[in-house]
Amino acid sequence: MSFDVQKVRADFPILDQKVYGKSYIYFDSAATALRPVQVLSAVEKIYKEFNGNPHRGAHYMSNQTTVAYEAVRDKVASLINTPKREEIIFTKGTTESINLVAYSFGEAFVNEGDEIIVSEMEHHANIVPWQMLAQRKKAILKVLPITDKGELIIDELDSLISKKTKLLAINLVSNVLGTVNPVKEIIEIAHKSNVPVLIDAAQGIQHTIVDVQDLDCDFLVFSGHKLYGPTGVGCLYGKEKWLNDMPPFLGGGEMIEQVSFSGTTFNELPYKFEAGTPNFTEVIGLGAAIDYVNEIGLENIANYEHELLVYATEKMKTIEGIRFIGEAKNKASVISFLVGNIHPYDMGMFLDKMGFAVRTGHHCAQPLIDRLKIPGTVRLSFAFYNTKEEIDLFIEAIKKVITMF
Ligand code: PLP
Repeated sequence: MSFDVQKVRADFPILDQKVYGKSYIYFDSAATALRPVQVLSAVEKIYKEFNGNPHRGAHYMSNQTTVAYEAVRDKVASLINTPKREEIIFTKGTTESINLVAYSFGEAFVNEGDEIIVSEMEHHANIVPWQMLAQRKKAILKVLPITDKGELIIDELDSLISKKTKLLAINLVSNVLGTVNPVKEIIEIAHKSNVPVLIDAAQGIQHTIVDVQDLDCDFLVFSGHKLYGPTGVGCLYGKEKWLNDMPPFLGGGEMIEQVSFSGTTFNELPYKFEAGTPNFTEVIGLGAAIDYVNEIGLENIANYEHELLVYATEKMKTIEGIRFIGEAKNKASVISFLVGNIHPYDMGMFLDKMGFAVRTGHHCAQPLIDRLKIPGTVRLSFAFYNTKEEIDLFIEAIKKVITMF
């Protein structure tokens, strides 16, 4: 299918909104993506037509919800090519997925003196849970450094890995730098030392084809709301061999096999990790988002977004005093930058008043911002509903802001 940006834009009614009386230009999809009408309708349909708690009731609507909810597990399994549907756990998002692994994997496999490796370019969601685990278990957090251009120094991985290394947690795409990390190569290195790897695909799943069997990752996590789905839903993929040996994270309904006051036995995968009423509405909305993305085709999305990235980068180079933060060879459609001495918050504030939604600040990656010795960045992140015309308007707007300083 050929890609028609105007056709897809019609699926995103929010793009017709005005802010401060101006056209709304959304360059903040890395924070949270917009949702197409197909997702909005799926969510509305559940509340209007077949509300029912999945797995719980024997009644008609509960069964309907159960079937729809479990069908999304199959859609996710197919999206990331998991060998077994039971290896997909629904969570609240990337953050909860990583916390689940940090807690449960940590309980089962991490002891005093053991080591966990993360990189210098991680989001707080892929740092803090490991720090909390390290504190709880008296373990050690080690950090894989990056170059000034924003690429991982993979050559240092071998010397960071030791007999004490229990897990490596790394992102597929950096939310600040846009760097696409060579995770397959990293996983191969880690596996040579029998170190399992968790991939934070929060910024990757919406831009590239992710195949967990090809990657051979041990865990992979992502959020629905960055994949054009609803908020409050995310996924954890884990190899069965790990998930089976990990204790539950949250206790409650549905994650049990048998409960008595003398003790409880737990349900099988994936339910062992899905305590309580799940966000079934959002899960079903995520299913609609996956259908939508599949219909456009991830390859078409990736190609078009790459075109936008190259177009914007080349045009932005003409802005006097611009400094790109993140100049990796392989980048997703994220551009972080600074101009002269203009503070990113000031730039963001003026851009906001002109109708542009960009993100400014440390982007929940303070250690990375400290490493780069900058106050933060202005970040624009594209999705397939953005256009070159919007980029042109953005560049004019930046030039206008510069004249104000
Ligand atoms: N990891 C990365 C790379 C991210 O960019 C984000 C959010 O921006 C997260 C993790 C956390 O995702 P969420 O807030 O959806 O849990």
